[in-house]
Amino acid sequence: MDRIIQQRSVAKEALISFREILVIVCESGPEIQPRVLEERLSKIKQTEGAPLFFRGDFPFDLFPFDLVPASKLLEKLLRYLSAIGREDTDGLKRALKSSNTEPEWSENLFRAILVDDKMRLSKISKEVDLNPETLQFLGGMAIKPSLFALRETISDTIDKMEWENGYCPVCGSGPDMACFERNGKRYLHCDLCGQKWPFPRVRCPFCDNHDHESLGYFLAETEEGFRIDFCRRCQRYIKTIDKKTFEKPAPLELENLATIHLDLLAADHGFK
Ligand SMILES: [Zn+2]
Ligand SMILES: [Zn+2]
Repeated sequence: MDRIIQQRSVAKEALISFREILVIVCESGPEIQPRVLEERLSKIKQTEGAPLFFRGDFPFDLFPFDLVPASKLLEKLLRYLSAIGREDTDGLKRALKSSNTEPEWSENLFRAILVDDKMRLSKISKEVDLNPETLQFLGGMAIKPSLFALRETISDTIDKMEWENGYCPVCGSGPDMACFERNGKRYLHCDLCGQKWPFPRVRCPFCDNHDHESLGYFLAETEEGFRIDFCRRCQRYIKTIDKKTFEKPAPLELENLATIHLDLLAADHGFK
């Protein structure tokens, strides 16, 4: 974290405030019993092209997804943020109170995030008068240790699947970032569970377009090792880090945050 703060000075401020959150998240251990998970996993029927589960249909009954540890982590994050004098302190305190006094409040939030239900998320945010994006970010951070543990347990199964789709083989989410590994192969990275999977270099992960005339990329002038791949058919883009350029690239979750200025650049070019 300290290294990346030094290297990516443009995103310094965002990274510094993220550091404390990351420390709190990293202190909480994985919350899933791998053995139990493997037993449950065998019950999922794999069909070709289908991820292990779809976000809209999160198999809460199959995965022993204990939301209590995630709720505790959410409380810690809310407690920390409501004590550092942010503009939204009142909302954060209300959220902290709700998560303290009504266990179903946090569970509701996690479920809304997992199934990507924006309406439910906005309703929950209104109740405590907090920006839905803030709440989505904090709730997302709080369930990450559980999601990462889940992904690690099933990654062997995933590696055996021949997967070349634009969505995550574990949870069906879209990618938040891409990378070129040292061997030149392109990989996509899931924005929810952090799974990585191979993907052809000349193809759009969002609309499957592989016509090279309408696909392209531009480089970030100020930073070597990054590029923005875009698709003129769906007007979407994805940031890509070339790992060859960096001796020790950071995890992609972090690189994604450290390169928010590239998102602004892509938006300037009319991509979304
Ligand atoms: Zn995923
Ligand atoms: Zn596209």
